[in-house]
Amino acid sequence: MKTENISLWMEQADELRVERARLMDDMETDIAIIGAGFTGLWTAYYLKKLKPDLRIALFEQRCVGYGASGRNGGWLLGQMLGEEVLLQRLPRTERTAYQNLIKQIPDQVAQVLAEEGIDCGYHKGGGRAQPAGDLFPSHAG
Ligand SMILES: Cc1cc2nc3c(=O)[nH]c(=O)nc-3n(C[C@H](O)[C@H](O)[C@H](O)COP(=O)(O)OP(=O)(O)OC[C@H]3O[C@@H](n4cnc5c(N)ncnc54)[C@H](O)[C@@H]3O)c2cc1C
Repeated sequence: MKTENISLWMEQADELRVERARLMDDMETDIAIIGAGFTGLWTAYYLKKLKPDLRIALFEQRCVGYGASGRNGGWLLGQMLGEEVLLQRLPRTERTAYQNLIKQIPDQVAQVLAEEGIDCGYHKGGGRAQPAGDLFPSHAG
């Protein structure tokens, strides 16, 4: 599968271009995960950490990172855009639990990268929120 046209990240990730064989026969596995994006890959990773003897099969229709995971902006954020609106109906304790969980994401990813010896140019550099109108004045309402 050619990855050249997917994104800048995919062009730079040579090891993702490995051709993998199609599944032609029945196979037995403890867990089958469909889709090799962030959701599938992290699920497989943590399941294996929790129970190393699990037989996990990851099925991907095209190539690893073919979906949004291989095409995004490449940043990690310890919050979800629009979360104030999305979470407003939750009780305060649940909202706080969610926020505490999600704000750990950048550091958790850094920890896994260090543990697994993955050099992907990770850099924790903070963030900046700015009204879109400042960047694109012609689109300001
Ligand atoms: C343009 C864009 C920019 C973004 N920017 C950021 C960002 O900068 N930072 C950030 O944190 N998030 C960003 N996001 C969000 C983030 O990329 C997604 O939330 C995340 O990648 C979703 O991962 P996923 O594994 O759930 O889905 P996907 O990455 O889409 O993975 C699903 C996989 O399943 C495969 N698949 C589907 N159906 C089947 C099937 N029947 N059989 C086998 N395989 C199948 C697909 O080929 C695909 O590889 C962005 C998203 C987009 C679209």
